[in-house]
Amino acid sequence: MIAPTSAATLASMSSPILLFLPLTAALLTLLPEQVNAAPDELIPLQRLAASYGFPGATSSPNVITLQSQYRCLAFHTGSRRFVFNNRLFWLNGAVSKDGQNWCISRADAESIVAPLLQSRRALKGQGCSLVVLDPGHGGSDPGTVSSRRIDEKRLVLDITKRVKRKLNASNVAVRMTRSRDTTLSLQDRPKRAARWGGDVFVSIHANSASSTACGIETFVMPAAGFPSTASSKPESRSYKGNKHDAVNTLLAGLVQHGALAHTGATDRGVKRARFAVLRDAPCPAALVEVGFLSNQKEAAQLTTVAYRDAVAQGIAQGILTYLVKAEASQ
Ligand SMILES: [Zn+2]
Repeated sequence: MIAPTSAATLASMSSPILLFLPLTAALLTLLPEQVNAAPDELIPLQRLAASYGFPGATSSPNVITLQSQYRCLAFHTGSRRFVFNNRLFWLNGAVSKDGQNWCISRADAESIVAPLLQSRRALKGQGCSLVVLDPGHGGSDPGTVSSRRIDEKRLVLDITKRVKRKLNASNVAVRMTRSRDTTLSLQDRPKRAARWGGDVFVSIHANSASSTACGIETFVMPAAGFPSTASSKPESRSYKGNKHDAVNTLLAGLVQHGALAHTGATDRGVKRARFAVLRDAPCPAALVEVGFLSNQKEAAQLTTVAYRDAVAQGIAQGILTYLVKAEASQ
């Protein structure tokens, strides 16, 4: 589950340079939609800085930073790493050079940077009435099993029920794709969300990898034409879940950051993968991996009610913040 950076060469930049960019009225028209604009079209970071009113872009070796009073965007050159206000996100494509300019793809400018900077605009028209929670696995599928004999299916059902109770306590309507230890196909999960008219879909899982891997990560769909975070092989097809690209990262970021804030776990970032439940999601959707059952310390933490409750509190807080923002954006 380690996310590689792109194969693009890491270009080092010498001493810090300050690029002071004039803020013109024309540039304030943010990335106007172009007919037939390619998602991999490159957008210079200087143009982004000017469009959003940042005073300039500061370059240091391997990182270009756009900074204002409340916002800090750090783009890692030659990499998909992007840090927004100290929280890690993985772009669809690497920060790459076009002539003298470091650039990101139009898909990243429009579906990641724009929604993070202008959430009201991105959330306009999004529903906020029903949350569908999806505890991973169940029944004949135990998910990952730790050396402490914790089944992922039981663990995530417990956490999901806690998230539901916390959201219900804030008067948020919630349905769960399963509320018992039953077998449920991957296809049926987003189907249920569609049938119920869900406005937000959050799938909850636990991770497994090497014994040293640790932390929380939250996944959303990659944009069409780009690879998953763990891959370098692009996929051109667009799925139902791509309809909500402009909101998915916003939702995932709030869930991820809520979970981190309540647990102090390692931030593995908001990543991208074409998981079946995300591919077919009928509404904004994210999949959170709450920790590694393959890691002794995290598996032990997850056996305690206090830690599971903290994880649940963080996820619920993230969803609630999304709903409040969505409601305020109508
Ligand atoms: Zn799982």
